[in-house]
Amino acid sequence: METDPRIAALKAKNLRQVRPTDEPPQGATRPDAKPVISFSQKRKGKPPAHLADLSLADRKNVLKEAGFPAFRADQISRHYFGAKLADPEEMTDLPAGMRDFVASELCPSLITSVAELKADGGSTIKQVWELFDEVRVESVLMGYPGRTTLCVSSQAGCGMACPFCATGQMGLTRNLSTAEIIEQVRHAMILSESGALSTGPARLSNVVFMGMGEPLVNYPAVVQSLKRLTDPAPEGFGMSARGITVSTVGLVPVIYKLADLGIPVTLAVSLHAPDDELRDELIPVNSRWKVGELLDAAYHYYSVTGRRVSIEYALIKDMNDHTWRAQLLADELNRRGKGWAHVNPIPLNPTPGSIWTASTKQQQDAFVRQLRENGITTTIRDTRGSDIDGACGQLATEVNNQKSAARRAKITNV
Ligand code: SAH
Repeated sequence: METDPRIAALKAKNLRQVRPTDEPPQGATRPDAKPVISFSQKRKGKPPAHLADLSLADRKNVLKEAGFPAFRADQISRHYFGAKLADPEEMTDLPAGMRDFVASELCPSLITSVAELKADGGSTIKQVWELFDEVRVESVLMGYPGRTTLCVSSQAGCGMACPFCATGQMGLTRNLSTAEIIEQVRHAMILSESGALSTGPARLSNVVFMGMGEPLVNYPAVVQSLKRLTDPAPEGFGMSARGITVSTVGLVPVIYKLADLGIPVTLAVSLHAPDDELRDELIPVNSRWKVGELLDAAYHYYSVTGRRVSIEYALIKDMNDHTWRAQLLADELNRRGKGWAHVNPIPLNPTPGSIWTASTKQQQDAFVRQLRENGITTTIRDTRGSDIDGACGQLATEVNNQKSAARRAKITNV
């Protein structure tokens, strides 16, 4: 890469490279401590089983084994995925004698709202959920003209330890179950259809796995949740796979598995640097799977699914925002093919205590221009909800509880 004359010329103009160290993680015993990558959860307790964890066939089996007719599974599933009901008392065509069983075995309450915070003139709502074991996760609902998007959490905390991401500083508490993910979506559907967003009542059209957690570490539950999202009622919600995005730091072997799944969701790759030297620092798991392998896997995903891959790139001042890096990124993408990837730069949302800042507008523009001049489709991603810690990379409920509580007084409570 050093020998490419275009990159060498750009580099000569733009040499500044700041590599600050971030604050140590909460609870660190040494000031130079860094979060470490972790694929395994500390807690072992499992959330209660729920119908959204199961395929329709398995829901039928549960009922049959309990001595109820299997056709009731269709009925209950239509109430849940169609009417978004989870209280058997509201499922009026269910015999009274089944309702207790359904309440405890198929529809236990899994997530309880602890707070709803509005931002961006009411077009963004962050929801804070408490799970059965008092662990908290967040989801963010965003209304736009013509589409409504929910950003869901797939894990409580995250074990990927990316130093610029608030969730990455928390470490991994545990994987969410399929139903804990699906419940975030069901509640958001109700909220969105009720007209809670200032953009007006709307059907939820998009779900992005960009909340807390690394979805590909929790692959089995995430795959099941993709099935529940896309399968038509009574199996699931019947959403279009085109409206769903799974975002990953780059677990290469799992990207290959996802490509073979047959549910053509959009893959987003959190790249943030086109060179291993810098990406090793920004995304610790890059020590395991390198930029080249990751982009090969992303290209494979595009070839198999026909879905254009999103390349996520948080622009961090004097860290990764050099125009020579934009050129290197364009070269790496173009080397593999034309038009298969779309770059989404996003200004960094600085996390509390971080000494990193977002790139200047001028540098952001230069970065985008460099990509576009090389034929790469590039769209700046908006930063919704930053004043309620609801923006990309800011979700860290357990760490920020107290601060959020103090802020709640100032921010409109829904
Ligand atoms: N673990 C997954 C999904 C969760 S993060 C992943 O990394 O892709 C969703 C997106 O927010 C990722 O692209 C992530 O890199 C980005 N992000 C994290 N911290 C950020 C921050 N402080 N500012 C801007 N984007 C950030």
